[in-house]
Amino acid sequence: MFAGSFAGNGWLSPVILYVVSTNNKLMHYSGFSLLKQALTGNRGWTRAWRNLEPRKRYDVVIIGGGGHGLATAYYLAKLHGITDVAVVEKGYIGGGNTGRNTTIVRSNYMLNPNAQFYEHSMKLWEGLSQDLNYNVMFSQRGVLNLIHNDAQRDAFARRGNALRLNGIDAVMHDLDGVRKLMPHLDFSKNTRFPVQGGLAQPRGGTARHDAVAWGYARAADRLGVEIFQKCEVTGIKRKGDQVISVETTRGPIEAGQVGVAVAGNSSRLFDMVGMKLPIESHVLQAFVTEGIKPLVNTVCTFGAGHFYISQSDKGGLVFGGDIDGWNTYAQRGNLPTFNHVVAGGVTMMPCLARLRVLRQWGGVMDMSMDGTPIIGKTPIDNLYLNGGWCYGGFKATPASGWVFAHTIANDKPHALNAEFTLERFREGNIIDEKGVGASPKSH
Ligand SMILES: Cc1cc2nc3c(=O)[nH]c(=O)nc-3n(C[C@H](O)[C@H](O)[C@H](O)COP(=O)(O)OP(=O)(O)OC[C@H]3O[C@@H](n4cnc5c(N)ncnc54)[C@H](O)[C@@H]3O)c2cc1C
Repeated sequence: MFAGSFAGNGWLSPVILYVVSTNNKLMHYSGFSLLKQALTGNRGWTRAWRNLEPRKRYDVVIIGGGGHGLATAYYLAKLHGITDVAVVEKGYIGGGNTGRNTTIVRSNYMLNPNAQFYEHSMKLWEGLSQDLNYNVMFSQRGVLNLIHNDAQRDAFARRGNALRLNGIDAVMHDLDGVRKLMPHLDFSKNTRFPVQGGLAQPRGGTARHDAVAWGYARAADRLGVEIFQKCEVTGIKRKGDQVISVETTRGPIEAGQVGVAVAGNSSRLFDMVGMKLPIESHVLQAFVTEGIKPLVNTVCTFGAGHFYISQSDKGGLVFGGDIDGWNTYAQRGNLPTFNHVVAGGVTMMPCLARLRVLRQWGGVMDMSMDGTPIIGKTPIDNLYLNGGWCYGGFKATPASGWVFAHTIANDKPHALNAEFTLERFREGNIIDEKGVGASPKSH
């Protein structure tokens, strides 16, 4: 009766929703729930997702509990009504590249298939916290690519024009414009690579990486998806052109369809079905300095080397650069690459030399040969691949899950991933995005 008589009162409805949600063990996060927990000793928080034992069979098994696997499970349940889904993760949710990246989100790609796909992702990012009821801390502080010579200005102007023709925001800055955005760069004229301007995407920015994994996990779980951590796939059983089950460290699981989203481990997984992928695995490192007052207000990339930087909400400068130059599955990097990255950073912004680096880590990148992802069907009927993300898969997380779910649900790709096929390498239809995406051949 209480709920009924006050349901029309807009300001009270979050309270009512909260009460109903708590009773159903599906806690809705809101300002009211935060306040209530703060006033009651934080004892009422419920699990973000369930802790279950795997069943014998699922309609869909997604291998890999990173952002892409979890987003796929969420959109399968939310948009396609497929809820008999298991996500199996060998470590812990978000312990792979999703929780290891430098969190840059942008959609400033020039070639049409990439431009459309990443812009779709950007639009999903713009409503993601509300959609998931989880604060992914998406911050549209802009992304600025520096220009150091005339040829680069021409190439960036071309890319900026292509972006605008695709309805994507792009702003060309002269030196004064760059000075306003990044006042602490080295603007002297007698350096080897003087800054001449920059191409910006104001809607780009950063998001909190592990919150994305946790948000998708929680939202998928609420729709019935079952998530299993410490559940490594050790084998894939086939009967002819069909996968029938996956062997895991928590027992065999039969599956109607299997989606693989394991980033740097893609080639290992496909080895289990006797397939060789056009993917190389390399380690990419990230670095964080001690916390300082606001210094870097946008994401900024050096145009005369491979270096990118932003500042976290805690104040640490987050930066990265080139991959370590050899193949590995080890999630740790080496000192020579660190020296190389830092040299780029100090050339671009000399004041960085005074900071201490507090933390460093590595993630295993699934580098495709043209720098563009592979999302779609494979020669095995009910086995689907989502990989080849190179440096750029974090920003793709929402759209990647969205199109992969569509592909699995309909057994055919969506228009947005129709060109991200495996066959393109055999046919020569590669999507070679020069300059904005790294690929193994560029190193
Ligand atoms: C240092 C660094 C910086 C980066 N910076 C950016 C950036 O700024 N912007 C950007 O857009 N992208 C960036 N990236 C790339 C981005 O992080 C990845 O492309 C993206 O997170 C890939 O997501 P995923 O879900 O496919 O992979 P992951 O998060 O790695 O998830 C794959 C999961 O599969 C699991 N797995 C592997 N093998 C098995 C198995 N046999 N059984 C079960 N589970 C298995 C792994 O444990 C892992 O959790 C960066 C990457 C790194 C490492």
